[in-house]
Amino acid sequence: MDHLLQSSSNFLTSSGLDRMPGVRQDINRFRSLAESPEARFLPIKGDEYLLKGNDALSPVLLTFAETGLQAIDQAFCYLLGSKDKLVYFVLDLDLYCGEIELPGDTAFSHLRKSRIDVKDWTGALLAYAGALVLWHRNHVFCGKCGSETLAAEMGQARYCTNGQCAIPHYPRTDPAVIVAVTREDKCLLARKEGWPEGMYSIVAGYVDHGESLEDAVVREVFEETGIHVRTTRYHSSQPWPFPYTLMLGYFAEAEEGDIVVDKQELEDARWFSRDDIIEGLQNGTYKMPSSFSISRKLITEWFDSGDKGPLTGYL
Ligand SMILES: [Zn+2]
Repeated sequence: MDHLLQSSSNFLTSSGLDRMPGVRQDINRFRSLAESPEARFLPIKGDEYLLKGNDALSPVLLTFAETGLQAIDQAFCYLLGSKDKLVYFVLDLDLYCGEIELPGDTAFSHLRKSRIDVKDWTGALLAYAGALVLWHRNHVFCGKCGSETLAAEMGQARYCTNGQCAIPHYPRTDPAVIVAVTREDKCLLARKEGWPEGMYSIVAGYVDHGESLEDAVVREVFEETGIHVRTTRYHSSQPWPFPYTLMLGYFAEAEEGDIVVDKQELEDARWFSRDDIIEGLQNGTYKMPSSFSISRKLITEWFDSGDKGPLTGYL
């Protein structure tokens, strides 16, 4: 399948937002956009989103009037972009010094801890907004000279306030590879300490300086599990806003050799057959990773390529 199509079908991707690069230097335009009837604000507090609903929760988007803000300020509010005639902003309540009155029947919750409906484009909006807010909070000082930085360009930059330095800082994404390693009819799954009981997922790790994505796949799999990888095949990518990672999904084939678990990184790693997965799901000893993660997508695709039918039939 085409990579664009493949990545577009991952959750948290493809918001279809126009990120409006042409207007970001115009602070007056920022205010007029934010105070217009078309503006919608996504509040974030800590690492939690404001949600409504009972079963499948959806994000609450406030109008300017509903926020109760007297004025808009890029110190705590950032432009995300426009779509279908509405203009979206994220509001960082940790940085906003005032109070806003929240609608009834709403609550703050973490993306990973609640049943948020991330199937449509709002999942991508949440991922984008969450990553941007966390990046701002983690870059309040200049990495070059240590002076304070201030948000600029409607939230797409932070400028160093030291006139001698004055370098702009732009939001960064940390690339990480995530790999479904297979050997014959088995898939290599691992778990970290603290994960829910029985949850096993595929191996993942950040890309180092000076290595290709494929180098990172080979290194990470070997470092964490002692398994040598022979071939790699790129699958798709997914933004992962914890805090601002880009997951790059791969399949890889393993050579012969025993698993040697790196206990600093993992609690356990082992080969799972499709029957192991089915049995674990049926008797409750195996749990899949998050329903909206690329790891679940890759495990599902590997499983479905076998002769046991689709994995969804066993969930
Ligand atoms: Zn500086």
